[in-house]
Amino acid sequence: MTAKMPAVFVGHGSPMNALPGSPYAAGWRAVGESLPKPKAILAVSAHWETNGTRLTGQAAPPTIHDFRGFPQALFDIRYPAPGAPDLAGRIGDLLAPTTLVSDDGWGFDHGTWSVLAHMYPDADIPVAQLSLDRRLSPREHYDLAQKLQPLRDEGVLIFGSGDIVHNLRALRQGPAHPWAERFDTRIQAALAANDIDTVAAIEADEDARLSVPDHEHYWPILYVAAQRQAGEPIRFFNQGVDMGAISMTSFVVG
Ligand code: ZN
Repeated sequence: MTAKMPAVFVGHGSPMNALPGSPYAAGWRAVGESLPKPKAILAVSAHWETNGTRLTGQAAPPTIHDFRGFPQALFDIRYPAPGAPDLAGRIGDLLAPTTLVSDDGWGFDHGTWSVLAHMYPDADIPVAQLSLDRRLSPREHYDLAQKLQPLRDEGVLIFGSGDIVHNLRALRQGPAHPWAERFDTRIQAALAANDIDTVAAIEADEDARLSVPDHEHYWPILYVAAQRQAGEPIRFFNQGVDMGAISMTSFVVG
């Protein structure tokens, strides 16, 4: 019997956090060290949106450098974890009647590797990345993700990577925008209370619309929140807003 694996959401922020010296990486590393070692990781990154739901299918997925204008040191990083193509059948069964498509055209994007390079620097745990179906509402993402709960009993770490607040047009040096701090605080409280109606209400008011102008960085939160079962704890870390409008707030369920 495998103990139930916790699930983790990480606010990944800038790709620069992949490099040594990131103030957030210590939190990521500490969480990696605190968890039982997963048999596999199912990663849900903000940076892979598709029509339909897809899963990386390769035995050795490539590291994707899906950004521009950053230092060469970031482009030199490879995350050589093996893939987990054998998860496809199991996940396909769990998600039915949603069809899961195995996809050899993606790999590990920076939402996945910039964090896992700190959480699991040995890159010895198989990783598969699940795409985000851009046609789904927040509630539909949550409902789909709930079907993945049995994986936690099978030693699979469900790992979401995005940002509660992600507004690149509002970046600034200096303090966080008040709307960003209010929304980050609101969603932490809603997650703590397991108030999914509030968590899913990403167009509820001006604070929400400014914090979640595009939805893809928010969706991975729902995949981790959906793993929480009655009575399970939720623990926040790296809380706060960076660069004015990027939330780094992260959490562990279970
Ligand atoms: Zn991102």
